Amino acid sequence: DPTGEPAGTLVRTSAKYAPDAEDTDRVSATLLALVRNEEVDDMVASMVDLERTWNNKFNYPWTFFNDRPFSAEFKKKTSAATNATCNYELIPKEHWDAPSWIDPDIFEESAAVLKKNGVQYANMMSYHQMCRWNSGMFYKHPALKDVRYYWRVEPKVHFFCDVDYDVFRYMQDNNKTYGFTITLYDDPHTLPTLWPQTAKFLADHPSYLHEHSAIKWVVDDIRRPQHNREAQGFSTCHFWSNFEVADMEFWRSKAYEDYFEHLDRAGGFFYERWGDAPVHSIALGLFEDSSKIHWFRDIGYQHIPFFNCPNSPKCKGCVTGRLTDGEPFLHREDCRPNWFKYAGMG
Ligand code: GDP
Ligand code: MN
Repeated sequence: DPTGEPAGTLVRTSAKYAPDAEDTDRVSATLLALVRNEEVDDMVASMVDLERTWNNKFNYPWTFFNDRPFSAEFKKKTSAATNATCNYELIPKEHWDAPSWIDPDIFEESAAVLKKNGVQYANMMSYHQMCRWNSGMFYKHPALKDVRYYWRVEPKVHFFCDVDYDVFRYMQDNNKTYGFTITLYDDPHTLPTLWPQTAKFLADHPSYLHEHSAIKWVVDDIRRPQHNREAQGFSTCHFWSNFEVADMEFWRSKAYEDYFEHLDRAGGFFYERWGDAPVHSIALGLFEDSSKIHWFRDIGYQHIPFFNCPNSPKCKGCVTGRLTDGEPFLHREDCRPNWFKYAGMG
């Protein structure tokens, strides 16, 4: 299929996808964004792209999350960018604040070490909170209680290709857990003890390892052995989570909950800078059937500085096959071949 669209997907645009349709073809899902008030214009830019290429046909609701109340301006501008329903949700303090066992003095000392090692945002407490919330909190928000799938959207991202099928229904009908566009190597300095902590967890819970897992992808050391060494056994290759389409049942499973709890207790969201991307990716790579993870080759996407740009007439505004506008060395950050090697192209 030259468009890269999954076989058997249909254009389902119909009255049943009208924003307020009672007898709707939509599955239980939302577009989801954690965002600050001052990012409203960049958020609207992302919405304009996704509405134009996809959501105007399906009218999935948008759910915005913030650790502070959304401003009237934010609500006005974002709701004007879509025909779909918009929900504005405050994150409860107990989901956002660092847990009681995190020591502010140790946080400061650790941040200094991370900073010395060139780790971005090391001493920015809110960045650590954001990574932890995206790892283990967002799907516990009461506003998502009856919602199953989400598509994560950040401010200032771009979508380039017309997508004519219901992406959420595709996930449901094909029994997919997680969809990604880009995978990258991570900076090992952000997560030196994430893999040792994970190995400890696995040793205590061997039954959580899925029999068709992608564990070989998680621990791969072939193309970038030094990453694996510095990360003490983790390849650092991860699904780039600023884009994700996923089934929250996975995050709500006992295996993932126990894993998150273990990591949270270990303190690395604050004393190191564990990202939600490697945490999600390791969990998916260990506890899920790799065939339930889908590469959306047909969704043209950019979050600076990387692209996923399909070779299709449905795509406008990106260059086919180009990972980045940046320096050639950035191409080395792409680790999709590792995923295809162990899990196939889907
Ligand atoms: P980067 O992509 O790793 O550089 O991180 P970003 O700055 O893009 O942050 C990731 C996402 O979390 C974006 O959608 C931000 O808008 C959001 N975000 C980050 N920190 C905060 C915060 O303190 N409060 C809120 N409400 N959103 C945040
Ligand atoms: Mn971002």
